[in-house]
Amino acid sequence: MEVIEASNSLERMLSRRADETRTPLGGGFELLPFCNMNCNMCYVRNNTPDLWNYVLSAEQWIDIARQAMDAGCLYILLTGGEPLLYPDFKKLYIALQSMGFILTINTNGTLIDEEWADFFAQYPPRRINITLYGAGNETYDKLCHLSDGFDRVIRAFHLLSERKVSLRMNVTLVKENRDDLEKIAEISRETGIPFIPTTHLFPPVRKETEDHLFFSSRMTPEEAAESRLKATFLRNPDVDPKEQARALLKSLTGPRAAAVRNIGFSCKASYSEFWINYKGEFSACGMLTEPKVSLLKHSFADAWKFVGEQSDQKITCVTCRTCAKKSFCQTCAASCFTETGSFSGRPEYLCRLTDAMIEKVLDYLDDEEKEKYRKELNTIYTKADIPLISIVVPVYNAEKYLKRCLDSILMQSFQSYELILVDDGSSDHSGLILDEYAQLDSRIHVIHQENKGVSAARNTGIRKACAPWLMFCDSDDYVDINWCSQLYRKAEENPDDMIMCNVWTGNELNPKMITLNVTEEEMNGVSFSRSVSSGLYPYVWNKIYRRDLIEKHEILFDETISFNEDKVFNDLYAQYCRKAVSLNASLCIHPVHEEGLTLTAMAKETEEAEQPSGYLMAVHKN
Ligand code: SF4
Ligand code: SF4
Ligand code: SF4
Repeated sequence: MEVIEASNSLERMLSRRADETRTPLGGGFELLPFCNMNCNMCYVRNNTPDLWNYVLSAEQWIDIARQAMDAGCLYILLTGGEPLLYPDFKKLYIALQSMGFILTINTNGTLIDEEWADFFAQYPPRRINITLYGAGNETYDKLCHLSDGFDRVIRAFHLLSERKVSLRMNVTLVKENRDDLEKIAEISRETGIPFIPTTHLFPPVRKETEDHLFFSSRMTPEEAAESRLKATFLRNPDVDPKEQARALLKSLTGPRAAAVRNIGFSCKASYSEFWINYKGEFSACGMLTEPKVSLLKHSFADAWKFVGEQSDQKITCVTCRTCAKKSFCQTCAASCFTETGSFSGRPEYLCRLTDAMIEKVLDYLDDEEKEKYRKELNTIYTKADIPLISIVVPVYNAEKYLKRCLDSILMQSFQSYELILVDDGSSDHSGLILDEYAQLDSRIHVIHQENKGVSAARNTGIRKACAPWLMFCDSDDYVDINWCSQLYRKAEENPDDMIMCNVWTGNELNPKMITLNVTEEEMNGVSFSRSVSSGLYPYVWNKIYRRDLIEKHEILFDETISFNEDKVFNDLYAQYCRKAVSLNASLCIHPVHEEGLTLTAMAKETEEAEQPSGYLMAVHKN
């Protein structure tokens, strides 16, 4: 549901720049929830008269538009419901146009008569998008419950075309009209108006009305895949379908596009686009119910900032992020949210649609070529570039020790990891240091957030992580070169257990090792109480965690406490482990210094402190 259509190089540049600078270049103004039609799948339309009490006045919209313009907005999409039912539509439209906005309108077209056509000829919009719901009155009757709907839309096409108003034909495909597709393509050819098909409908989360038949109207993923492919070919009638199939497969087998963003939304929503509904509620996209802010209580600038910050915390599905089929799939933050109820959920409907689409595309090739592509695709799927460990480091004003920490992680003998650095609103140079490191190594991902505490920072990291195993390190700690490799090996051997290693603490003059003081063999199989009494249990940086358990059981750090949060986290995790297993090796060092996180609460130290390894001491001195 993108509002800015960058159709020439200047607009593309503008749009890219707006994305980079987080400028709200374009937004949807959803004027009304009302409509003169009643499409089976529609859950936006609600003609309850009481809702008129919430509808913003033209003056309110103009005020919002003024604020949006000050923030950098240029493009506005006027939509609904049916926006032409908005009583002050013409007044608002003229005001927005005279302010310099570039306007696009989404309408069902059935209300457009000579008068409307003359109006748009006098005040031409950038374009009017008219949704065509079928290729005849019969379809309109059964799908939209307006028996002459088709005739009305065709009239609108003619009236507006005669007046040279720029038009586009949006086509929402559902069970009731999918068989009309060829005829729709024919209408598009005859009128010269390009048609844009939509085959994936977002499930209802807005719940403006419960009175809809969404799920019986929406096509199955397989039907949607077939319609999508058919529509693609119909839009390019002069190109051999086999050639089109090959071109589509190239997007899968060619170089994979770099991940756009790992957190937040991967589209323009909250980066350069926004949405405002008829009540004045501001959100990143019209498909989402959260995060949102009322513009009746807050300024546009504050709403943009708040929704951007909140959206950045939304971590979309990790499987989608690393999926080799992504270039074929229409997944986005809104599809995850609307299909699964969670931004991080995997939208099964879209997985099925994508798989079906790939199969149908392959069917256009002869057997030999199909086999060749199948082999190529299988290799790509198995090679999908997912790291084995996600390492999360919360960072707060740690410039003094940060490089030592990061260098020790980057020197790991184990290479398959992603390093997620969460800058928790540092006011020193920590954020800059992190950004510099991120330039050096593509495995490093930096997230900057407002200061919320170590638990919230770690939670942000957990939500972003995509590897099967998860580890933590604190920014004033550092680790042995084999920290990852040894814990990972042990974890792979004992996937049902809580895996931990010994820890060095103290300082250069007085190093101490916290240890179970038992051999690895003796330790295996002992109860958690033994690991608790050893002093190794309450911390997270000497352990490796199964991310699937954390995700499945929604285990997070308690952000309301500032003491013992690691232990509380481990208590939650331990519920799903068989036993505690410790490596008889000290792989991380937690220095005691005045300003750092201290280990004073650590339980047990060996009577005779052993010396840390040469490597650890060398790092400590640097
Ligand atoms: S989240 Fe999805 S629906 Fe919303 S603007 Fe982005 S791509 Fe469109
Ligand atoms: S035309 Fe659009 S807003 Fe109106 S009922 Fe149909 S889907 Fe809903
Ligand atoms: S929805 Fe499924 S196919 Fe699409 S990107 Fe996500 S995991 Fe891949």
